[in-house]
Amino acid sequence: MSEALRQEDLVKSACGKRHAADSMFLRGFSDLVESVVDIVNQRTEYVESGILERLAEPDRVVSFRIVWLDDAGEVQVNRGYRVQHSNAIGPYKGGLRFAPSVEEGILRRLAFEQTLKNALTGLPMGGAKGGADFDPKDRSKAEIMRFCQAFITELHKEIGPHRDIPAGDIGVGEREIGYMFGQYKRITETFSGVMTGKGLEFGGSCLRREATGFGVIYFLEAMLKHRGEAIDGRSAAISGAGNVATHAAKRFAQTGGKVLTLSDSRGFLHVPEGLSEEWIDQIVAAHDDPGFRLETMAAKVGGSWHPGDTPWRVACDIALPCATENEINAAAVASLVDNGCTIVVEGANLPLTTEAREAVRAAGLLYGPGKVANIGGVAMSGLELSQNAARLHWSEEDLAQDLRRIIEEAHTLCVAHGGDDKQPDYERGANRASFIRVAEAMTAFGIL
Ligand code: GLU
Repeated sequence: MSEALRQEDLVKSACGKRHAADSMFLRGFSDLVESVVDIVNQRTEYVESGILERLAEPDRVVSFRIVWLDDAGEVQVNRGYRVQHSNAIGPYKGGLRFAPSVEEGILRRLAFEQTLKNALTGLPMGGAKGGADFDPKDRSKAEIMRFCQAFITELHKEIGPHRDIPAGDIGVGEREIGYMFGQYKRITETFSGVMTGKGLEFGGSCLRREATGFGVIYFLEAMLKHRGEAIDGRSAAISGAGNVATHAAKRFAQTGGKVLTLSDSRGFLHVPEGLSEEWIDQIVAAHDDPGFRLETMAAKVGGSWHPGDTPWRVACDIALPCATENEINAAAVASLVDNGCTIVVEGANLPLTTEAREAVRAAGLLYGPGKVANIGGVAMSGLELSQNAARLHWSEEDLAQDLRRIIEEAHTLCVAHGGDDKQPDYERGANRASFIRVAEAMTAFGIL
């Protein structure tokens, strides 16, 4: 039987009819199986104990109604979810996303991805994802607070410091974590590391805010170093203007790179001379201000604003998609290649469509998938949990070192499993390394 057929068989038997309609999950699962089909065939225990069947089904999906009052006194109703995918190597861990696009299917896919990502941090964390179809855009601070309180009033029964530890994601930052943590504390009368991304005053960690973006650049540096190269003097097109994008931009600029673009849902900012660290800091500072528009930065920084457009047609050496899923399609990859881009590293989760990933491969670009390139955020969450458990607060210097070590070790692991040449297949390496860790733990537990 050919390997391709085997892969299909494995996916079919693992997913059965349950995921037939859920193409996003099926694709992600199928990618994993493609990377590990030989491992599964060699380790009969994995087949006998149904490792793939078990990974294809999240341990638990909780879905609940959220009722809250808007500023006009009107009743608002939203849907909330928590997908607890796997706690094989540690308590469930993953972000909460507040966005109108949130539904169960995408969260199942992201929770599965989180299990693999978390395994690559080397820390004891399982995978989960959650959120609500709530759109925080144009909502007042008071409305966001009431929504967060209502959300956690429902979710609090399912989480705990040894059970499931949420954090932020799109639409959920330090402010929202503060509101949710406060409500959890009030309801349960406990003070623990039940959430990460907390404020520094109540158990948060230095560098948590910066960690995802910085980690993306650390990973890029590791990829380049492996080829005997460095960032210095190269240019990057970056999408997004949130936590990940701005901190990736800051670190890229600090490392001697030229940040050409940032973007939001309205368009993109192009700065041919490169955005300075000082301006990036101003954007970071303004980010939580609901009146802030990236567009207004164009005149100040000597750049131009391109409404309704994405940065992928700008001439650059490196593309760093740091906004959201499926933000780069095959046409965008073609345009990047035409404009001289040779490297794509993902700061967002799943920012490339399937066709875009194929195009990246076909064009022979150096590709750092988010499942390893953006583990910095959750890795720092793991370090926040360690500090909470020890009731300690570590220094920024120590944490920066730990973060770099974690990212470099994940890079080494991906190289070891992804073909040890100058351009390893990082996606295959990440899939194989994380799968082995999770599957070994599941095998050790027996069948349950
Ligand atoms: N939402 C982030 C991610 O996608 C962080 C999750 C966490 O810190 O638990 O990895």
